[in-house]
Amino acid sequence: MGTTGFEQHCRRTLADIQAQGRYRRFTALARDGVRYPHYDRASGSGPRDIVVWSSNDYLGMGVDPDVVEAGIAALRDHGAGAGGTRNIAGTSPLHDALEAELAALHGKEAALLFVSGYVSNQASLQTILTSMPGWICFSDEKNHASMIAGIKGAANGRPGAARCVIFAHNDLADLEAKLAAAPADAPKMIAFESVYSMDGDIADIGAICRLAKRYGAITYLDEVHAVGLYGATGGGVSERDGVAGEVDLIEGTLAKGFGCHGGYVAASAAIIDFLRSTASGFIFTTSLPPAVVAAALASVRAVRAQNHRREHLFERVAALRARLDAAGVPHLPTPSHIVPIPVGDAERVAEISRRLLDEFGIYATPINYPTVPRGQERLRLTPGPRHSDAMMDALVAALSELMAEASPARRQRDDVEA
Ligand code: PMP
Repeated sequence: MGTTGFEQHCRRTLADIQAQGRYRRFTALARDGVRYPHYDRASGSGPRDIVVWSSNDYLGMGVDPDVVEAGIAALRDHGAGAGGTRNIAGTSPLHDALEAELAALHGKEAALLFVSGYVSNQASLQTILTSMPGWICFSDEKNHASMIAGIKGAANGRPGAARCVIFAHNDLADLEAKLAAAPADAPKMIAFESVYSMDGDIADIGAICRLAKRYGAITYLDEVHAVGLYGATGGGVSERDGVAGEVDLIEGTLAKGFGCHGGYVAASAAIIDFLRSTASGFIFTTSLPPAVVAAALASVRAVRAQNHRREHLFERVAALRARLDAAGVPHLPTPSHIVPIPVGDAERVAEISRRLLDEFGIYATPINYPTVPRGQERLRLTPGPRHSDAMMDALVAALSELMAEASPARRQRDDVEA
């Protein structure tokens, strides 16, 4: 094929993506640490001062003065990078302290840091599911791409390789039927999330753990969109529901509720030491920079101790929902902090998002296929403690105006079809 042939393939694929209205363009935004969720728009026409409604820094911890100062101090003391992998000069006392803090957060014996939440899922799942022959992984159909990558990496079709059985989303009956049909003596894992970030729904962790016990499976729970936000100390939905002790592995990120960067898994000492000793994605990469670890440590400590941050978040979520209801703007009634606005058309959601930005200085990213199925395109709003009433009023007014209008593309199609 050669370079030219491959580049032609790339261009054809990109043209397809563009034709489907799901070509991704970045909007360069400079985060305004003091006025967050305000950002400065670096390029393009329209307002320069932007209010962001799609950040995953759910509690605004990434701009918390104590968190930022902890990062600055560590940057001065330890330098910009870790200097090596965890085994080769890349472990600082800060790494050890953060792992101890995360283990305590989840009531587990130990925790292990990874360079991102994505890598923690991919590396842990692939490592566990290749650790002995015959693993069967029962995976929720809406699991995140990073979990799927780890499971697929293990379920590679070779003799003795793991098998992946997908169960219908949050469907306990389907999960149980599939567990019951599997050989009793095979090693089994149930892999699932607590808060599903695109639909904003929440798994029944206790019930899944009971099924796991009945059928002899271990449980792997992604709490990426829940850590810091749920439970009396921010230990996630498993803490809120009093079932953290029933879950074998809890995976989380430092990049969302904690506002920093990095991923981790918390579990028994044996499981964590096993991952530390065998997971390629842990061993063979430079560890998180000390400044990031120090900031994350300050953030986790603050979020654990300060329940008022969670209360404030959920007060803001309720305030936004009340305004959307009053204005008649449709939103999916989720039991979580995530407020999806269903649009159901790739072009239309892109247009609404663009006009929010260009005409109103509001940033709400469109969520398209493959992140959600075709026909379920949406805006995903994540209100937080720093969103004021005035910002909410402006958002809801803009949304009511734009949602009421059909896009030019749709109008044209409707005219032709009529
Ligand atoms: N799990 C889920 C459910 C996620 O949504 C994401 C990222 N959006 C990740 C894992 C990866 O986490 P990180 O951004 O820290 O890599």
